[in-house]
Amino acid sequence: MAQYLDGKSIAALSRQQTASMVLSLRPRQITPGLAVVLVGDDPASQVYVRNKTTACTAVGMANFQHTLARTTTESALLQLVAQLNGDDRVDGILVQLPLPAHIDTQNILAAIDPAKDADGFHPVNMGRLALGLPGPRPCTPYGVMALLATTGVSLDGKSAVVVGRSNIVGKPMGLLLLNANATVTTCHSHTQNLPQWIRQADIVVVAMGRPHFVSGEWIKPGAIVIDVGINRRADGTLCGDVDTAAAAQHAAFITPVPGGVGPMTIAMLLKNTVELAKARRPL
Ligand code: NDP
Repeated sequence: MAQYLDGKSIAALSRQQTASMVLSLRPRQITPGLAVVLVGDDPASQVYVRNKTTACTAVGMANFQHTLARTTTESALLQLVAQLNGDDRVDGILVQLPLPAHIDTQNILAAIDPAKDADGFHPVNMGRLALGLPGPRPCTPYGVMALLATTGVSLDGKSAVVVGRSNIVGKPMGLLLLNANATVTTCHSHTQNLPQWIRQADIVVVAMGRPHFVSGEWIKPGAIVIDVGINRRADGTLCGDVDTAAAAQHAAFITPVPGGVGPMTIAMLLKNTVELAKARRPL
């Protein structure tokens, strides 16, 4: 029976460490600040933004929330990003995705100062990740790496399968695992015989957005299974992309949904922001 990786308590520990880092900057009159930009009134995005700003305040950081109408133009949003780039109180900028369809997401992400890129999505920071150079890492995959670290299992030489190749989860996830010396396979909707790939994996990270798609029988005995998926069932409850109970019969470690990867994402956002604050103001 697998050991469950408790993302809630691991994230709480990470937030405590961030709070200590924030405190250690006080003698230098530095209060790290995170600006969160929300365009429109998507209920899920509103919840994410609220959780992010609450967590930000709880670790002693300043937060600056900007809520814009759904009809906001791309140029108005670019103007706000430019203003935040120039605001010295702001160390991290996050534009909540998805943006309304009339706004080009890549244009917005590319306009954020890479030195204030709290989500790590700027092309420069994605490039730094690909090159194995330091920089802010996309929060969800970064959180997965922190969860993996708590297992005490070395990733070196392990076979890792990432299901999903989105720019925010799957792609950076594969790069982080590769940088940790895992042998990485990225699967997607064109992959043939997905179960076969998963069956040989020591580490499986699933980010598909398909409820309980990954069957327990596909899991190699002793594997580590990380379920990034968040799917809402008809009854309003949440479930992941993996059939957790069945997979737990085979895996050594597994994440629950909810309470696994989800809490880690916000903890890594805070960590990125405080690290950006330190990097912008070297001793
Ligand atoms: P996307 O929809 O952008 O990407 C989904 C990926 O899954 C795509 O690469 C797609 O392939 C692949 N996929 C879909 N169906 C299949 C299939 N049948 N076989 C193999 N691959 C398939 O989603 P995201 O990456 O943004 O998010 C994935 C999940 O993670 C969602 O449930 C989301 O809610 C959750 N999430 C959770 C976060 C957290 O904090 N815990 C943060 C971000 C996301 P293709 O590219 O070929 O279309």
